[in-house]
Amino acid sequence: MRNTQSTQLLFELSRSGRRAALLPDLDPEVAAAGEDLPAEHCAASPPPLPELAEGDVIRHFTNLSTLNMSVDTHFYPLGSCTMKYNPKRNERLAALPGLADVHPLQTDESLQGMLRLLYDLQNMLAEISGLPAVSLQPAAGAHGELTALMVAHAYFAKRGEDRPVVLTADSAHGTNPASAAMAGFETKAVKSNADGLVDLEDLRSKLNDRVAVFMLTNPNTLGLFDHQICEITAAVHEAGGLVYLDGANMNAILGLSRPGDFGADMMHYNPHKTFSGPHGGGGPGAGPICVRDFLEPFLPSPTIEHDAEQDRYRLQYDRPESIGRVRSFFGNTGVLLRAYFYIRSYGGEGLRQVSEDAVLGANYLLSKVKHILDVPHGERCMHEFVASASRLKKEQGTSAMDIAKRILDYGFHAPTVYFPLVVDEAVMIEPTETESKETLDAFAEALFRVTEEAGDLIHEAPHSTRISRPNDVAAARKPIVKWTEGD
Ligand SMILES: *Cc1c(COP(=O)(O)O)cnc(C)c1O
Repeated sequence: MRNTQSTQLLFELSRSGRRAALLPDLDPEVAAAGEDLPAEHCAASPPPLPELAEGDVIRHFTNLSTLNMSVDTHFYPLGSCTMKYNPKRNERLAALPGLADVHPLQTDESLQGMLRLLYDLQNMLAEISGLPAVSLQPAAGAHGELTALMVAHAYFAKRGEDRPVVLTADSAHGTNPASAAMAGFETKAVKSNADGLVDLEDLRSKLNDRVAVFMLTNPNTLGLFDHQICEITAAVHEAGGLVYLDGANMNAILGLSRPGDFGADMMHYNPHKTFSGPHGGGGPGAGPICVRDFLEPFLPSPTIEHDAEQDRYRLQYDRPESIGRVRSFFGNTGVLLRAYFYIRSYGGEGLRQVSEDAVLGANYLLSKVKHILDVPHGERCMHEFVASASRLKKEQGTSAMDIAKRILDYGFHAPTVYFPLVVDEAVMIEPTETESKETLDAFAEALFRVTEEAGDLIHEAPHSTRISRPNDVAAARKPIVKWTEGD
């Protein structure tokens, strides 16, 4: 029988008078002082908080923490999201009191250490991207997209050019068109060709003097490096537009290829997908952006600057052309600091190895998975690949969603499903670069077994988790919480 306590609320577990600690009686002087407090500041009775013993509280939270899958408990092949290796050392370093306890309203003078780390991080991000000007403010990848598009808008406004259109690839993450719309642009999708890459002809037909930016991801969301990239960026530049690189897939090309070198003018990083910031549950992430020097004046304010003569760091607010602030204080410094530690501990050679391992692991898994599911564009991949359950669905009724749900019973987090939209019944798989051959083999084996199954076993899966398919019509007929036998 499984311990059922963890599904009850603390309020349900509460028993009047139960305590985690016994406190001594109040010092009479303190008690007397309390009597002088103005009545309007005193509650008539204590707030109705749960009353529990320490052991109950510990069990409650420990049990809750086991109800979900995480990178610390399971292989997590969530394509596009890159469940990054999170070295525990970086957690400890980012939590050092000298960093974690810094107050954002301290003076620049008292923040020299923090500002130096952030300044050095900017330089490292610039070096890795090949784009010299950096803002660490954006709080997530999507926020970085929005910020960079606002920068592009300010740049064209200054030049007196009216360019109301942003082009996005049809394989793009949904955040690309969403960010463009939020920044006030009209969006148009550029088609993919039969190889899953940008359809150059379609791109050329949509480029004109109304297009401000073409946003693309490279390697793209099919896990393919677009070898036409220099032609693409040249075409956009010829039409007077800027190229935005969605950097969510930088994990595949660190030290191998630089967006600035292949013609991108602006990009964001997702440090939570590339540089060890833990992610999941919605954040926090970060979305630093790097841009070409001619876009630097428009970056958010303040920027972090270094006075080499006096060797002092300071926040520069005097930026008349800046788009202004996009985030309070310095951005999500906790995530940014982990990125700093990650980059410094690996060094240049190490980062390159990270990407080579990511690509190797994904290709190893691809070589197994392509015998289990169809993989359109599946000759080779970068750090991820997209299989399709389309044929399996037609032949035996097993959908991508069924696979995702059933694989949980085998002890694996589900891959991403139904993204990118250009692949029917998409199953998008991305192994973290640190996974062992044994883990990849075990996952491929589980995937194979799932595709051999049929009926309720698969359509009503998962069977081993607390909650089955809460937002699924078929599952709504059953109790949502599944009690194991004897509960
Ligand atoms: C994750 C992702 C984003 C958005 O990044 P967030 O940090 O989640 O806002 C954008 N594009 C691609 C390709 C992504 O994978």
